[in-house]
Amino acid sequence: MNILVIGSGGREHALGWKIKQSKKTENLYFAPGNAGTSELGTNLEIGVNDFAGIKSAVLENQINLVLVGPEVPLVEGIHDFFAADSVLANVKVVGPKKAGAMLEGSKDFAKDFMSKHNIPTARYLTVTRKNIEEGVEFLESLEAPYVLKADGLAAGKGVLIIENLQEAQSALKEMLGGMFGQASSKVVIEEFLSGVEVSVFVITDGKHYKILPEAKDYKRIGEGNTGLNTGGMGAISPVPFANKEFMEKVEARIIRPTINGLHVDGIEYNGFIFFGLINVKDNPFVIEYNVRMGDPETEAVMLRVKSDLVDLLEGAADGTLAEKDIEFDEQTAVTVMMVSGGYPGNYEKGKVISGLENVAGSTAFHSGTKMSGNDVVTNGGRVLAISSLGETITEALAASYRNAELIQFEKKYYRKDLGFDL
Ligand code: ATP
Repeated sequence: MNILVIGSGGREHALGWKIKQSKKTENLYFAPGNAGTSELGTNLEIGVNDFAGIKSAVLENQINLVLVGPEVPLVEGIHDFFAADSVLANVKVVGPKKAGAMLEGSKDFAKDFMSKHNIPTARYLTVTRKNIEEGVEFLESLEAPYVLKADGLAAGKGVLIIENLQEAQSALKEMLGGMFGQASSKVVIEEFLSGVEVSVFVITDGKHYKILPEAKDYKRIGEGNTGLNTGGMGAISPVPFANKEFMEKVEARIIRPTINGLHVDGIEYNGFIFFGLINVKDNPFVIEYNVRMGDPETEAVMLRVKSDLVDLLEGAADGTLAEKDIEFDEQTAVTVMMVSGGYPGNYEKGKVISGLENVAGSTAFHSGTKMSGNDVVTNGGRVLAISSLGETITEALAASYRNAELIQFEKKYYRKDLGFDL
């Protein structure tokens, strides 16, 4: 089978790495991919939202299955685009259509969905310019800190957590006034939940689902979880507090009602669902839904999936997931993200990366890299996800840190304290 992975991050490199291991894979393509993916398959110079360009590439390369990595093309309707075109009728697309992608594309939609299907989540009110006063009052009814979320996609930056009531009330007005453009024309105000977060992933064909290994990611740039938020500085799987009892609650209270809810609401869905959860006194609550895998969690999770990923992707696309098996490695997987100095603020690109050939005992998944002549150079804030398996978390981390030392680029930075809080 010929497979196209859409995206250019560490997530797509890790998915491609796993897809490459399947006997079912003949040719593998990435659009647009990065320096790492070019070693697994062919990079096509096509942007993730260029549906017409993707269509041409699919026809030209006789691609049978398209796996969509990031959320934006899903929310923009790439699956609907394929479904509506008879020339593409035989191409399997893994990722939800627009209607299902709303779970991530609109926080108001996701909150309504959860409240309709009794899925535990923080209390909330959705506010537009028309009911600002209600929003101001709702904030008064809550205790600090106050959580304000832009309804639409805001590249992970649309959530404000504010200590002071007056500041939260002014921020609400600013958001509705266009702080995040169209994305904050609606704002979801939420009760603040206090607890530890965990990411749970499933693959589904809309009726059946398989639960993938859970993970914990480290969002802050600084050690001790300090400083600015990033796309993710590392991840660990499994997560010690997500024990059997907790995961049974997650499945009964969250996963099953979500899959059933989609079905009952007539929303066809195939692909991944990423449940961003918070553990409040041993009870799981949903913080957010994502309609694709997480980055950098995928770079850890894929190391623990023993089953054939292509078989699972086909099951999701064909509605035959119930027949498939999923097996995990019991070991611990970690990923340590190496980033460009300055990130998540300003940073320079184009720094030559050396030492990749010395990596041993870990897999260096590429995030922001590209080829420049014969050199691999940095091409983003997050550069490499150094991922390792170990009998223990200590062993896995030691391997990733040993390899991160061997890789050089100007102003490289990574957190050296992952797992400190477990
Ligand atoms: P991302 O895609 O970067 O995870 P996002 O913009 O989709 O973020 P959320 O995941 O909803 O937004 O929120 C971002 C972060 O804010 C969460 O990971 C969590 O740490 C915190 N957060 C969000 N909602 C709440 C809440 N109700 N209580 C406590 N913390 C919250």
